[in-house]
Amino acid sequence: MKLREFMAGLARKAGRHLNTQPLGMRNREPLVSFTFDDIADSAARHGAAILDAHGIKGTFYVAAGLLGTRDEFWNLATADDIRRLNAAGHEIGCHTHDHRKVDELSAAELAAQCDANHAALTAICGPIDLPNFAYPFGRQSLPRKRDLQRRFTSCRSVYEGLNAGRIDRAMLRVTELYDRTLTADKLARTLDAAAAQNGWVIFYTHDVADNPSWIGASPRLMTEVIEAVEARGFPCVTVREALARIGLPEA
Ligand SMILES: [Zn+2]
Repeated sequence: MKLREFMAGLARKAGRHLNTQPLGMRNREPLVSFTFDDIADSAARHGAAILDAHGIKGTFYVAAGLLGTRDEFWNLATADDIRRLNAAGHEIGCHTHDHRKVDELSAAELAAQCDANHAALTAICGPIDLPNFAYPFGRQSLPRKRDLQRRFTSCRSVYEGLNAGRIDRAMLRVTELYDRTLTADKLARTLDAAAAQNGWVIFYTHDVADNPSWIGASPRLMTEVIEAVEARGFPCVTVREALARIGLPEA
């Protein structure tokens, strides 16, 4: 292995496992968030409609540079979709503008990507703050994680796990909301763990379609998950609201 690859691997491991922004959770009850990345047009339309039907607000991590384009597995949402999501009270979160992997960027390039995304989303939605970030492709490194945690209240990973106890705000854990991986068994175990540990479950997905991509959810799965969460009485809130309930340290 080349030294450079070895060092990149170390930077990823360190970013994943070192808790660089610890926060002791002080929420009164288990919490659940529904999050979407990129954003596929089907997530902005069908996904949001399912949330709306249940009175739930989601968090949509937008890479504004992708809007209106075609991805391998789906069409991306348009600016109008994003404006509508924001107006409806869903949270708009930050991805990199061009969906660049943060570990491949310099600190300056990463800042420029975040600035560009913020400018584009301000042009779409009007003045908007974007306190919460998600790592595109889940890719990260310790130095870029440290850069991002200075700018954002939270950064969401794609690493599986329940957020409970002393969490890392700069590396929030997720549960895949994918038809391919979220079995009824896994869902029940995840919600059991959230109840036992007073945890925060962050579901994440991409497209929402009857035949979803390998990293997407069907409307049926989304509905089943929401009903299972509602049956437990866990509040479903945006990432922003969850962090408020968990108790951010005084600024
Ligand atoms: Zn993404």
